[in-house]
Amino acid sequence: MTDEKIIYESATCGHCGGMGCLYCNKTGVVAVARPKRHCHHCDGIGCIYCGFTGWAGLKGKYD
Ligand SMILES: [Zn+2]
Ligand SMILES: [Zn+2]
Repeated sequence: MTDEKIIYESATCGHCGGMGCLYCNKTGVVAVARPKRHCHHCDGIGCIYCGFTGWAGLKGKYD
């Protein structure tokens, strides 16, 4: 039970740097929970833990 609403904001996909790739659905951006923070596993480069986007709190990924 929490009233805390998760707010998502768009972040540049760390895998393609905004060019568009498989992991960001070719949009170049991904929705991540605020406050935006880089994935601590890869430091923003992209790894299996962040869905190769470089961001922690990726929307829909770990709900
Ligand atoms: Zn991408
Ligand atoms: Zn990562």
